[in-house]
Amino acid sequence: MADFKSSKTISQLFDPNIASELFYLLLESTPVGVYIYRENFIYVNPAFERITGWNFSELKNKKVWEIVHPDYQETVKERILARLSGKKAPPSYELKILTPKGEEKWFEVSVVTFKKDEQIFCIATAIDLTKIKNYSRHLAETLSEYRAILHSFDGLIYTVTPDYHLAFVNKKLEKQLGSVRGELCYKKIFGREEPCPWCSLKEVREGRSVKKDIHIPEENKWYYVVSTPLLYPNGSFYALHLLMDITQQKRAQQEILRISKLESISLLAGGIAHDFNNILTAIIGNISLLRLRLKKHLTEKEEKLFKQMENVCFRAQGLTKQLLNFAEGGSPIKRVSSLKEMLEDTVSFCLRGSNVSWELSIPDDLYLVDIDTVQFGQVVSNIVINAKQAMPSGGRLWVKARNLESKEPRGFLKPGDYVEITFRDEGIGIPEKVLPKIFDPYFTTKKNGSGLGLAICHSIIKKHGGHIEVFSQEGKGATFKIYLPASKQEKPFSRTLIQKEIFKGKGRVLIFDDEEVIRETLKEFLEISGFQVETAKDAQELIKKAKVGNFDLAILDLTIPGGMGAKKVLPFLKSYTPHIKTILMTGYSLESQKIKDFDAFLKKPFTFNELFAVIEKILPSNSAKNVKDK
Ligand code: ADP
Repeated sequence: MADFKSSKTISQLFDPNIASELFYLLLESTPVGVYIYRENFIYVNPAFERITGWNFSELKNKKVWEIVHPDYQETVKERILARLSGKKAPPSYELKILTPKGEEKWFEVSVVTFKKDEQIFCIATAIDLTKIKNYSRHLAETLSEYRAILHSFDGLIYTVTPDYHLAFVNKKLEKQLGSVRGELCYKKIFGREEPCPWCSLKEVREGRSVKKDIHIPEENKWYYVVSTPLLYPNGSFYALHLLMDITQQKRAQQEILRISKLESISLLAGGIAHDFNNILTAIIGNISLLRLRLKKHLTEKEEKLFKQMENVCFRAQGLTKQLLNFAEGGSPIKRVSSLKEMLEDTVSFCLRGSNVSWELSIPDDLYLVDIDTVQFGQVVSNIVINAKQAMPSGGRLWVKARNLESKEPRGFLKPGDYVEITFRDEGIGIPEKVLPKIFDPYFTTKKNGSGLGLAICHSIIKKHGGHIEVFSQEGKGATFKIYLPASKQEKPFSRTLIQKEIFKGKGRVLIFDDEEVIRETLKEFLEISGFQVETAKDAQELIKKAKVGNFDLAILDLTIPGGMGAKKVLPFLKSYTPHIKTILMTGYSLESQKIKDFDAFLKKPFTFNELFAVIEKILPSNSAKNVKDK
């Protein structure tokens, strides 16, 4: 029942007759809806008519719950009936009604009861909550939309006060850092003692937006950053920072640039290297021949001179090999190989006698890889030699290999099984501005550097379907990581060792090369070894000799300028002498596809030991015999 405590004060203030007039005035003028009812409406004030849309004339024959929304109708009816029978019901609650037009409206109603002539009546106020409800629903929806956007964004979002304190961080950042509200952004996010050099807070404080790519050397990562001013009610600008990791895209861009530079150089390199190889083959051949002939009469000093000549030739051979890796035909001849031994040999070879110590950590169960061991050996040498040069006063190199199942694409690598090889040195490191250039051909910071080492590594690794990455900071050493796809095969290719022995052969050999010096050198060497040898400088001569020659073996140059090369003459040779064995020779590295019609392949320049190793393999009746070749 209504508690009229306050009416005592009113009756003290006002004459009771005026009080009822005041009550009526209040009812008519208040913006709050007031209504009196039992089951039916007995009275509604003008505000009630206005906010509900119902006129009293329409309401007076209605039960109160009839204008209530069906969702609330039962509850309201129960409560009204309870009150009218003297029971308790909640004094205020929220409900929805339906206007005459069928629109939904929200109200907060507060009810009291009073008795008159032994009957219970209800008097209630109704406050229109529709606008507030709609607004807060809209706000909640918008907020949850924004929240979803903020938290589903696969980047970092945070806001910062004008004095670098974190105000908000999105879920992704929160996961990495925990709860960081109020902490200094440069300290918590970037681990720095001072504001970051790329910070845009100054511009943002002036109300400007900033977009830029930033590089974080500590993580070797690139981010695209959008910084936007947020005006706070106190008039100051907070900064909203949005960071997207674009490291992969940046690396891809650099790769594309590198590849296009490499392609143009490869054309040039290929041509030079091919000619150079022919010359070298002749020089190496003649030196070996001369040495063999004079062997018994050579003094120690002359022997030393020969050694020096050979060494210079091998260095030149190394250079041509490097150039050829750029060349169009320079694709690797891959064989299933185990990296363990190869890494151990190459690293120790490159560092022996230096003041750099090394530590290898290579598991026995390392996956096999499909590699051209010569080319890949060059990759390892280049990296190890760079490390050695980066530690002029000595230091340590760590070489680690492990199996890696890459689920996420890394650079251009597809997900799959890889071998990861890491070379970490403690040398001078690479300054940030130099880092993007080190794989560029001819980029060097060394006085006598060629700038080809890493460009070649990059090119070779690409041709092996792999990837190379570098991490370094000036003064803090450098780490190179190589990823090579694991081989599908389980057994490594077994290599016939080249025997350092004089060869005793028999049989008829045909040499086909346009270079006279090569023909003659080879001829003489093979003859010394016991073969009968004929030569041909072009296809015409070859066909003529092959018709009658009954050869056991033909050594064929791949390309004869202006005429038929090895591939084209092969069918003629086979038609005259079906049992003939053939060796293809060229300065190019070839794909196995191109070699498949021949019994063997020799890459110029080759030593005679290499030639004999090949002959021994395809003509087993010939073999190296006992005599050592120094
Ligand atoms: P080069 O050794 O002839 O200079 P590279 O292509 O092998 O050519 O290397 C390019 C550059 O990369 C070097 O000149 C050097 O500045 C840098 N570099 C490569 N490896 C390292 C390393 N381990 N430590 C420091 N700098 C290195």
